[in-house]
Amino acid sequence: MTVVTRFAPSPTGFLHIGGARTALFNWLFARHTGGKFLLRIEDTDRERSTDEAIEAILVGLEWLGLDWDEEPVFQFSRAARHAEVANGLLKAGKAYHCYASREDLDEMRAKAKAAGGQPRYDGRWRDRPASEAPEGVSPVVRFKAPLDGETVIEDQVQGRVSVANAQLDDMVLLRADGTPTYMLSVVVDDHDMGITHVVRGDDHLTNAFRQTQLYRALGWEAPVFGHVPLIHGPDGAKLSKRHGALGVEAYRDMGLLPEALRNYLLRLGWSHGDDEIISTEQAIEWFSLDAIGRSPARLDLVKLNNLNGHY
Ligand code: GLU
Repeated sequence: MTVVTRFAPSPTGFLHIGGARTALFNWLFARHTGGKFLLRIEDTDRERSTDEAIEAILVGLEWLGLDWDEEPVFQFSRAARHAEVANGLLKAGKAYHCYASREDLDEMRAKAKAAGGQPRYDGRWRDRPASEAPEGVSPVVRFKAPLDGETVIEDQVQGRVSVANAQLDDMVLLRADGTPTYMLSVVVDDHDMGITHVVRGDDHLTNAFRQTQLYRALGWEAPVFGHVPLIHGPDGAKLSKRHGALGVEAYRDMGLLPEALRNYLLRLGWSHGDDEIISTEQAIEWFSLDAIGRSPARLDLVKLNNLNGHY
């Protein structure tokens, strides 16, 4: 099997350090296995996606030396394909039209809140006949998620993780205006692009359960997942600008060398014994997903600067 990995940024801002590390891990894994590293620009949020951000991501990756194979895929351009897949699920009875109103959803949310739980859709349109559809209302399309059992993922970084299916509600696949949701687009694109390994931040782990259910319903083989703990600040808090975490181009403009940043990002959550200075050739030779740590790495700008002195 040829390994195919991908980096799938949303172009809503610069290429931040977490994204750059995700790209690096995917690139290294593809190069290590002699596979492919693909790039997908997830530009479906039309309000927040910008050409400047796309440019910053491409320039940042190039500067870091992370070359991608094939032309980048732009997710928004594939919306018709995503809708086609959702309509296939509808036809197969694995998805349904839901006419719940804003008020209905607010009520469900309030109920869940009062019970101290997460807001969830209660499935009220799951089995209702089309004849009951209110007139003049455009429905959303929801996935008929399994009600019983559990969904298990053998994650390459986290190990075996599972969720009780009863905890996941019927997610929206197509909005009332017919546009696809992220959850649908990502599954269809990963499948159509032949992605074998999805390596990304562990903020996507809960999405992976829903995506696994969707793969199953579609009769498609799910990719192997590896969810990498996010980078934290030196104080252990979730990384933010106040920690000095900048876009990749800002590090470049500060005089940092791409080799130094790449080496630093590699060591941020991945290790090979006590080795600190690792050449690109060595990184490609040694890289493996199971050497990615399970706890969040901490950004250390002093260390990064010191590393720069080695190059
Ligand atoms: N576009 C998503 C993000 O920027 C990534 C989706 C994925 O890797 O599956 O967080």
